[in-house]
Amino acid sequence: MIIIPLGVSSATPTAVRHLPSLAVWRDGSVFLFDCGENAQMRLLQAGVKRSKVEAIFISHLDGDHIFGLFGLLSTLQLQRRDKELHIIGPKGLKKMIDSVFGVAEIELEFPVTYKELKSDFDHEVVLEGEEFYVEARPLKHTKFCIGYRFQEKDKPGKVDAEKAAEAGITDDAHFKALKNGEDVTLEDGTVVHSADIVGDPRPGESFVYVTDTEFCENAIRLAENATILFHEATFGEPLKEKAEDTGHSSAQDAAIVAKTAKVERLVIGHFSARYSNQFLLLKEARGVFEKTWLAYELRPIFTNPDQEKEIISPRVEIIDLKDKRAQKSKRTFKPDPKRKGGFKKRRFKRKPANARYYKTGDDSERQQKPRFSKPYKRRDDSQSRPSPHRPSKPLPITPRTPFDDFDRF
Ligand SMILES: [Zn+2]
Repeated sequence: MIIIPLGVSSATPTAVRHLPSLAVWRDGSVFLFDCGENAQMRLLQAGVKRSKVEAIFISHLDGDHIFGLFGLLSTLQLQRRDKELHIIGPKGLKKMIDSVFGVAEIELEFPVTYKELKSDFDHEVVLEGEEFYVEARPLKHTKFCIGYRFQEKDKPGKVDAEKAAEAGITDDAHFKALKNGEDVTLEDGTVVHSADIVGDPRPGESFVYVTDTEFCENAIRLAENATILFHEATFGEPLKEKAEDTGHSSAQDAAIVAKTAKVERLVIGHFSARYSNQFLLLKEARGVFEKTWLAYELRPIFTNPDQEKEIISPRVEIIDLKDKRAQKSKRTFKPDPKRKGGFKKRRFKRKPANARYYKTGDDSERQQKPRFSKPYKRRDDSQSRPSPHRPSKPLPITPRTPFDDFDRF
């Protein structure tokens, strides 16, 4: 799975951060968690096709988490979508969408399946596919809010090819049966047991989406042993009171949830607009749970780190902006004691005014002398050999940043 934060701001966007939304890419399908304004443009910018969106999960009905949904649905309509779309969220979501499109006199022509949860629900599986399911639990916010866990089902174990060959398995159908946990009887009557050939089932990966909430038990329940937990960290500990008043978490709260639930990695996001330096929040979270990353917009996070291919380098230098002394000691500039003022003196050699002329005697001769020793000849393209540096095939488009390598989507 690949997790792509599309907007990591909280209630108000900043010049560099967009409103909450996050995409999960899995095996060609896209699952959207919250849909703030700009979500559809951010999908485009991330190289994720909007037509691939299969389900949209809404945490709660605050504008910053949902106002992008109407635009996205409208685009899907214009793209003549005919595939079913699942929309999951709190009760009232369908009414909200219906009234917007009702007033605008737009009838959505593609099938939309709604799943609405009431505020007194406890735990529910809200979507189930062949290879995954999504469960939901209520969170603790100023209004009814839902947390989600996207869980891949366990995959069958790997077939040990050597052991299978030793046991005399050659038929593909036999391989398949063994993989599915069935024992196989060969022609000579020998029974090959699946458990002897096939390894233990491999646990599926999981992604947990927890925003907006105070520190709560349900967040821990959802996140238990998850591969990736995305948890909001709207404030830092110094603003703990404000966090409690507004039903939000501090970075430390997020880290405690991650630590208690024993997740593999915590990703924090939903930063208040007041933090221009979100590394302060990262530092706070890492004080409790080391394996914490910041959510960067459009920067993909792979649930299997082996697939990252060095796209992500989490080695960030954390500098506390308030600690001026620590910042000064980080400076690498060392003045050179031998040089005046510590700087290397740059010397420019000035060319004599007549440097471009040849010294040949009188002025008339100087005018006639050609500037180039050989006369300029136009290159004949038909005779030129292909240069090894210039391949005949067009070069692939160079990614603008190391994070733009989105061919896999
Ligand atoms: Zn929010």
